Amino acid sequence: MTESNSNSNSLPLKSPLPGSPRGPNPKIAMGWLHTAKFLTTAPELKHLPRLDVPEIAFVGRSNAGKSTCINTLTQQHRLAYASKTPGRTQSINLFTLGKQGVTDAVLTDLPGYGYAAVPKEAKYRWQQVMGNYLQTRDNLKAVVLLCDPRLGLTELDEVLLDVIRPRVIEGLKFLVLLTKADKLNKTDGAKALSIVKLQAGGGDVKLFSALKRQGVEEVAQHLWDWAHPAVKPVKASPPDAKSPSGDLQDPAQTE
Ligand code: GDP
Repeated sequence: MTESNSNSNSLPLKSPLPGSPRGPNPKIAMGWLHTAKFLTTAPELKHLPRLDVPEIAFVGRSNAGKSTCINTLTQQHRLAYASKTPGRTQSINLFTLGKQGVTDAVLTDLPGYGYAAVPKEAKYRWQQVMGNYLQTRDNLKAVVLLCDPRLGLTELDEVLLDVIRPRVIEGLKFLVLLTKADKLNKTDGAKALSIVKLQAGGGDVKLFSALKRQGVEEVAQHLWDWAHPAVKPVKASPPDAKSPSGDLQDPAQTE
């Protein structure tokens, strides 16, 4: 399925600045996340605006703690709608991020899956929408999968991992957050971490608690880094360091 441009808007959108401030700075990351603003909601991928800024998607089972996580990271009480009514949140919600009104990234809140009370057809439709989004959204840069560690990764989470695996191999960033970590003691937290790490094929897994603010700044930093990739410093070459073809040598290849 192709993305439609029909819903595009006139917000100032731009690609992240190369050479944005580097090095861990959770204050900058948290300040940046606080700029989150609702952009649009869409029932299907084709209704989303085509964007050229990095997009970071939040996915997970219903009740995994996704809305709470987004609200905590953005320091806004009701940005993500933590509704328990299935059907009311069955759409893709986009939030812009960026200082001084200039959008340099987008957060996507994908509806929770696996809610038992949802009729079969709605579940199927939703799986299609989500699969389609995760496989074809061009500017998708990273996926954050929220998981309640007391349940572990469920079958639907594993399906999702399979769907994104080819894109992860191609460079899509991926992080599993084990939410509500405050409900686990240290031993159980460590156990949950190692089990899910195995299940996630060695991917990045972290404990997260909105209640105790565990992992908040660390995750904020990840999001910032994904949206503002470092530009490799180019070594200055002496004027005679030309390849036989006359092309300047790529310093990265000569190391
Ligand atoms: P969503 O359906 O994935 O958006 O989940 P919600 O964000 O609505 O959270 C589901 C439930 O888990 C709610 O009752 C939240 O209050 C609770 N919850 C979310 N995060 C935490 C947390 O860090 N600690 C605890 N103890 N409860 C949490």
